[in-house]
Amino acid sequence: MSTTAEDTRGIFIRVEVSEERCVGIAACGRCLPACPVNIFVPRGDRIGVQEEDECILCDLCLQACQPYEAIRIVRLYE
Ligand code: SF4
Ligand code: SF4
Repeated sequence: MSTTAEDTRGIFIRVEVSEERCVGIAACGRCLPACPVNIFVPRGDRIGVQEEDECILCDLCLQACQPYEAIRIVRLYE
């Protein structure tokens, strides 16, 4: 199913980074520059998330993290 800008109204988004699967910033860090709205932030060598509601569902982080599949974008409907 494709998602348009209209479809995203009324959706809350949660961005999850798996502590087990993420290999850390020194070893990867690819999600940091990938996100156009800077959802991902460094927390030491780990990845934190901020302002998840700014997520535009572009999936670029998922592509960046593809070798590890550590990121999940969860759509929470009203
Ligand atoms: S791209 Fe994935 S594995 Fe790499 S730092 Fe980000 S969350 Fe971790
Ligand atoms: S889907 Fe796009 S906007 Fe949302 S967290 Fe990933 S890279 Fe950022």
